[in-house]
Amino acid sequence: MFNKRKRIKEVLGSEITNHTITVMGWVRTFRNNQFIALNDGSTNANLQIVLTLGQFDDALLKRITTGAALKISGEIVSSLGKGQKIELKADSVEVLGDSDAEKFPLQPKKHSLEFLREIAHLRFRTNTFGSVFRIRHSLAFAIHQFFHDKGFVYLHSPIITASDAEGAGEMFHVTAMDLENPEKNEDGTINYKEDFFGKPTNLTVSGQLEAELAAMSLGDVYTFGPTFRAENSNTARHLAEFWMIEPEMAFSDLEDDMNIAEEFIKYIIKYALDHNRDDLDFLAARLVEEEKQKPQQERSEMGLIEKLEFVINNDFERLTYTEAIEILKASTLNKKKKFQYLIDQWGVDLQSEHERYLVEKHFKKPVILINYPKEIKSFYMRQNDDGKTVAAMDILAPGIGEIVGGSQREERLDVLEKRMKEMKIPADELYWYLDTRKFGTAPHAGFGLGFERLILFVTGMTNIRDVIPFPRFPKNAEF
Ligand code: ATP
Ligand code: MN
Repeated sequence: MFNKRKRIKEVLGSEITNHTITVMGWVRTFRNNQFIALNDGSTNANLQIVLTLGQFDDALLKRITTGAALKISGEIVSSLGKGQKIELKADSVEVLGDSDAEKFPLQPKKHSLEFLREIAHLRFRTNTFGSVFRIRHSLAFAIHQFFHDKGFVYLHSPIITASDAEGAGEMFHVTAMDLENPEKNEDGTINYKEDFFGKPTNLTVSGQLEAELAAMSLGDVYTFGPTFRAENSNTARHLAEFWMIEPEMAFSDLEDDMNIAEEFIKYIIKYALDHNRDDLDFLAARLVEEEKQKPQQERSEMGLIEKLEFVINNDFERLTYTEAIEILKASTLNKKKKFQYLIDQWGVDLQSEHERYLVEKHFKKPVILINYPKEIKSFYMRQNDDGKTVAAMDILAPGIGEIVGGSQREERLDVLEKRMKEMKIPADELYWYLDTRKFGTAPHAGFGLGFERLILFVTGMTNIRDVIPFPRFPKNAEF
């Protein structure tokens, strides 16, 4: 019987003593042949197990090593030592799985995140990753709670698609053909008619277009699933496989879109503060240590908890792309040519350095930029009356840059068709998308939020590869 085990979080949360329980977990440390620090993943706090000297034979004691899995029964008693209120006085100790202390890669000391990334199959056993993945779970749960409470329908958009949703990025091809010997046409090109789906297919880069179809009947929907981009970006903010949350709302405009995105981000952060406080406190302390390695002027002005509280208690700054360009142009960084990409004219795409300047230096809070030039945005974004800009919005967060990309969608069939022609988007392939504009079209809006970027923000972690269990990035698909 394994389900009689008590979780350590629960044990430590109650201070009732003098009753017998069973716990199971992994040894973090074993001192003086007497004290085991046992962790079972329910919390970073270890349960102290006390072995009475002489009660257990040497052969067993030798097998209690860092990393070993144990089943322990005993009595919960008040602790005499400092550091914990209660401890478990062991009656029986069973080794469920040995761990060769010489070979176990996780020693009871601090390991670098880079090293832990190489042993991602074992890094769950560290405090940092325990906290990160408990928070990841909690945020996923909060996302469903938020939308469910608002009456949204959770929509499962397809993972395999035949459309490049928006030209959002390079795609991974999906094929069942023998790559060594694919079916060919007479002219030597690949004959996709013979492939599994009878046409070229790929892994989705976004579920938005499908979400729009559903919103045009269900009203408010959201997707939350994996998306894939074969872009060769070796940055700390890009993954080849990442999870995206994409709400799509019928009868909504850009302002509704911004309002719900801001409310959503604040809700998620507050959820973490309310439900994951011990893990956040741990990560906040970790961040303070990490920041000590940095030069003074690069350290953040706020601690993690302070930053999260600041975000939920203050309005995001909202301004137009045009206003942002003016601010950037006038900045000393631009004048002294310190930006890698100088801002010389209206119409240029903003780079991460510009986004971070606006958020971290100029406004010192999250920023929502709206009304971007249509040339740098997707075909489906609603055109503004000025003929130059579209009703797009990006939310930029401190330390992260872009966290949300959204827009009001173009619901006017003639305007949409004209724009697709200009941008060489094949209208015949997207007939199903255009049908929603032919039969009862309605104003609607939505956004995409990268789940891992949100987790980065909440946990204060700095590399996106450390907030997804098994990161996929160029030249890496290990585990
Ligand atoms: P960026 O400019 O940072 O590459 P993007 O403009 O390509 O982002 P969108 O296509 O608007 O991003 O995707 C919506 C959201 O998905 C982004 O705001 C971001 O949070 C997230 N995102 C985009 N690309 C990635 C990626 N490669 N890895 C992780 N998250 C991503
Ligand atoms: Mn991108």
